[in-house]
Amino acid sequence: MNRRNFFEKVIPASLAVGAVASSCAPKAQRLYTDKHYYINKGYHQIPKLRLSMDRIVKETVGLRPFRASGPRLDVETLGSKTIVHNYGHGGSGWSLSWGTGNIARNNVLATKEKKIALLGCGAVGIATARLLQESGCEVTIYTKDVPPNITSNLATGTWSPASRVCDMKVAKPELQGIIEEAARFSFRRFQFLLGMDDIACWAEEYSVFNQAPVYIPGAGGEDFEIHGLVPERVRLSKKEHPFKADHVTRRANLMFNIPSYLRHHLNDFLIFGGKIKIQEIKKPEDIDALPEKVIVNCMGLGAKPVFNDQELTPVSGQLSCLIPQSEVNYKLYTQGASFISRKDGIYIGGNGIVGNWDTTPSKEQTEKTVGILQKLMQEMRG
Ligand SMILES: Cc1cc2nc3c(=O)[nH]c(=O)nc-3n(C[C@H](O)[C@H](O)[C@H](O)COP(=O)(O)OP(=O)(O)OC[C@H]3O[C@@H](n4cnc5c(N)ncnc54)[C@H](O)[C@@H]3O)c2cc1C
Repeated sequence: MNRRNFFEKVIPASLAVGAVASSCAPKAQRLYTDKHYYINKGYHQIPKLRLSMDRIVKETVGLRPFRASGPRLDVETLGSKTIVHNYGHGGSGWSLSWGTGNIARNNVLATKEKKIALLGCGAVGIATARLLQESGCEVTIYTKDVPPNITSNLATGTWSPASRVCDMKVAKPELQGIIEEAARFSFRRFQFLLGMDDIACWAEEYSVFNQAPVYIPGAGGEDFEIHGLVPERVRLSKKEHPFKADHVTRRANLMFNIPSYLRHHLNDFLIFGGKIKIQEIKKPEDIDALPEKVIVNCMGLGAKPVFNDQELTPVSGQLSCLIPQSEVNYKLYTQGASFISRKDGIYIGGNGIVGNWDTTPSKEQTEKTVGILQKLMQEMRG
């Protein structure tokens, strides 16, 4: 008879639990002075990052395509062509890609054309192209570059549908509703991707601050909150987290494993008969020369010179990539630094420089963010 069978046969279950607990009680108290903390620590499991400069294997600087009035989603006529715009998503292009893609799709369908040219092969372009295919369109993507040589590959990859998406002082009041509707459409699409080799997944997100974080518009937090999609943030008491900080919140958030996500959707695009042509559009005449009558513009920052968009400006963001650590499966942000754990690495970031076109990574920026997170990890209990 094994040990479990012995207990089941000899003592009623309720008595057995009581007997075992009381016989262990003095020992447990001796080992774990703070039992409540121990239970939470065991339950939430927050493993530490292995942080050192020699574990940084890649540094990148990506340029968020920012427009103060928000993404451009209108339709214009250029000679004999109809141009459907879908660019300028700032720090929200991943999150909004399906939602603004749906707006662009409706604008395309209103033309009744079925052979569509789509400029750009980033997160926004690929999502829009797939939606058009689902509506029976024949889509050819014309693009200067394909993944991984695009801005979308240089993103953090988290659900942030209103991050640096506009300047609320400049944007029209109706923009918030448009973004919210786009976010809701995207959110539903992302649910279909869950469980597919983790190209999209849920992860815990901690915010760790000494004081309640103050919202500064355009500083990287959400420009406005969209409620009812991801769970609300929960404030944790000191016993519920291991950080040396007074203001800690946790919520579950969506994240995207960028390389596999892009590959998955590009493969789908090709399976459904899509074509990709490598071609740089330098001037409006290049668009006029395309065989298709309806053109969807998803060129991100690349739209600026072609359409003389004075408003479109880069907000650069540096990411430093640590070797992946499979046990670390959460996201964290704190004053001056953040990180997200993806399949391809742990991406440390936290900055945004408005108007900066320079994509040269700065060693100082990496050292700064690594230093902030190193201190946070050293001060962590456990
Ligand atoms: C550091 C950083 C972190 C970010 N984190 C997040 C995040 O967590 N969540 C989120 O939602 N968003 C995030 N973003 C924002 C997001 O990455 C962008 O909004 C998004 O990538 C924009 O996608 P896109 O397809 O419009 O542009 P791009 O990815 O730049 O794609 C544009 C495409 O157009 C092509 N193109 C450009 N010019 C031309 C031309 N002249 N002729 C032909 N083709 C051309 C390019 O080759 C490319 O294929 C982040 C951005 C950065 C930089």
